[in-house]
Amino acid sequence: MFRDHSKLICDIGELAALFSDTSNLDTLLQKIVDMIAAHMSADVCSVYLFDDDTQEIVLKATRGLNAASIGQVRMKLGEGLTGTALAELRTVYEGNASLHPGFRHFSGIGEEKYASFMAVPILRGQVRIGVMTLQSVKANSFTPEDVNVFRAITSQLATTIEMARLLISLDKPVIKPVRAPELKFIKGRTGAEGFAYGEVVIAAVPSMDDIALGYEGRVFGLVELQQAVSAAETELKAMQQEIEAKLFDVASLIFSAQIMMLKDRAMLGAMETLIAAGVSADQAVRRVIKEYALRFESMPNEFIREKKYDVLDVGQRILVNLTGVRSSKDQIAGKIVIARELLPSDALKLSSQRVAGVVLLSGGVTSHVAVLARSLNIPLVIVDEPGLLELPAETKVLVDGTTGNVYVEPDAEVVNTFREKEASRLTASKVKKDLKEQTFTKDGQRVILLANINLLGDVPVAKDFRAEGVGLYRTEFPFIIRSDFPAEEEQFVIYRRLVESMKGHEITFRTLDIGGDKMLSYYDHSKEANPFLGLRSIRFSLRHKDVFCLQLRAILRAGAFADRPVRIMFPMISSVDELTEARALVEECVHDLKKAGIAHQASPVIGIMVELPSAVEVIEALAEEAAFFSIGTNDLIQYTLAVDRTNEKVADLYVPHHPAVLRILKRIAAAGAIYGRDVSVCGDMAHDLKYIPFLIGIGIRKLSLDAPFLPRVQARIMELDSKEAARHARELLSLSRIDDVTRVISALMPA
Ligand code: PEP
Ligand code: MG
Repeated sequence: MFRDHSKLICDIGELAALFSDTSNLDTLLQKIVDMIAAHMSADVCSVYLFDDDTQEIVLKATRGLNAASIGQVRMKLGEGLTGTALAELRTVYEGNASLHPGFRHFSGIGEEKYASFMAVPILRGQVRIGVMTLQSVKANSFTPEDVNVFRAITSQLATTIEMARLLISLDKPVIKPVRAPELKFIKGRTGAEGFAYGEVVIAAVPSMDDIALGYEGRVFGLVELQQAVSAAETELKAMQQEIEAKLFDVASLIFSAQIMMLKDRAMLGAMETLIAAGVSADQAVRRVIKEYALRFESMPNEFIREKKYDVLDVGQRILVNLTGVRSSKDQIAGKIVIARELLPSDALKLSSQRVAGVVLLSGGVTSHVAVLARSLNIPLVIVDEPGLLELPAETKVLVDGTTGNVYVEPDAEVVNTFREKEASRLTASKVKKDLKEQTFTKDGQRVILLANINLLGDVPVAKDFRAEGVGLYRTEFPFIIRSDFPAEEEQFVIYRRLVESMKGHEITFRTLDIGGDKMLSYYDHSKEANPFLGLRSIRFSLRHKDVFCLQLRAILRAGAFADRPVRIMFPMISSVDELTEARALVEECVHDLKKAGIAHQASPVIGIMVELPSAVEVIEALAEEAAFFSIGTNDLIQYTLAVDRTNEKVADLYVPHHPAVLRILKRIAAAGAIYGRDVSVCGDMAHDLKYIPFLIGIGIRKLSLDAPFLPRVQARIMELDSKEAARHARELLSLSRIDDVTRVISALMPA
């Protein structure tokens, strides 16, 4: 039979133009299915629309099926043949549908008698609009040409139907706040393990507009202001004390700027003057705080400008205590903070406020906020989804830091599953009885497992997990948190604690590694366009020898309390010259301490981090000078591949198993072997189970990692045969394509 398809489409187009108000849309859809059924000589034609809110496919019009089913038949994506067509975005055709295992019977719809079945998804690009189906009593009644024609008709009608769908949804009563439909599940990456479920708080820069409202009409006086100020001070001091007890090394001064502001006579005096002139205390606070914030904002120095946020925080705290009205942003405990970016000091504040979890929109999994979150036990996921910042305050979100996923308003079943998973993860992490004191491969090769320490609070955890020592102590955190360079004495106290608590164990102090994503707020880094390529790490220390020497002296003095030589490691070494210069400064400090008669360690072991391609090119010369190498894969990958480790936009290009990275790792291990140097890996590759066989295979026998990963890494090593690992490494090193490496590595991963 000859069918004029274009005429059908024109007819439907004209018809659609006549139906412009929502009350008639159902009639429009009905006319469409009637016309198509007749045109295609089918017994049934139906249209289903996809409901974004419920994620269901709903029958909207039908010619041939039971009309009473309209609006009643609902299915999930992937359910039945119709659901499959929309889930998989493909045409489904069955000559005898009821025989198909995927067929789903809906009672009362009356489709039992139809054998031939065809479902075509209605799409705009990849956006799901609905499904059009065609059915016939006779088996195998649709020809391949019919399939093509029906697809063409459906695609031509997509715009008309989408309009209908939008208008219908406009007509629906709004039950929930409008939310982008795709924000149900967001695949991110894991920054710090753990599970958290709670209401969201969008971390915004505080502004005067956030300051508690909701008490209009009430007037407050001087006495109430004084009480509010003193209550605010008590709160801040309690927070400060709590964080100091927990985080001795990094806590100092976090809230001290705010405590000082609360005591500032000029500021309080200005408020009091206004109150004396008849202004209500809340208005006086607002006015004075605003004025101070503006004053700070106009300062030339960036560090002082930043203090504006402390002023606003203080204002907020006074007002909350004065009025008794708390804003939701003020209550962090048990909530999930969603932030575009965070500073390490923010992470500490959040930890002291008992945040449940954090979702970060930037930063990268190896960024230092992520590193710190792990030490602070804050589940953290990093996602590239700015839509999350728009979530209304009462939205509940589940953060799965272990897989790196975020679920928006998950249903109870999802939450329970996660609660159970988390409980077993926590139980498993407590079972340390299986941990061996020493680690060997299956064929008896000894591998030393050490811990990375970021905060002193990590030390008991490391001991608990039987770390054989500290392979990387990141000394920069106490520097990052303070408001000025810490004095030698302050550093000495911290380092001495570490040394004393790790008696009998090897400790490697990495000297100050700031810059990049580890900025000091009190040092003006702001002029650098590319801070990762700028004055960071050892370059900073060599440029600021006074700061560097204070740190070296503090380490050497702490070394006097150690029962073995401490190891000093320089980060980001790019040449032999830098190593020579840095080592000379250590010798100078030893000499000065000796001359001054101060107890110290006279012969520390000096080594370097290998994290730059330039160091790799001169690795043999460095091996002659350095007692040990520790491979910082986080930076090594970033600098080898030219992929910013903190930039989520290029996260997919940050590939640890890129053939270039693997060959570089091999080259470092080989140089270490030739020169008899101790080579360890202390970047995140050391805890990634995928890469353990390769690392063992190229001869690495020392790994330093976050302590909670130690049990799995030990278990993985113990099931490896070093000769098989060497074969695996040789195979990987023979490959030049990332895809091929991925395939071989995946094949080796235990299920
Ligand atoms: C590294 O770069 O791999 C490393 C361990 O150092 P950090 O992550 O502190 O830069
Ligand atoms: Mg590094």
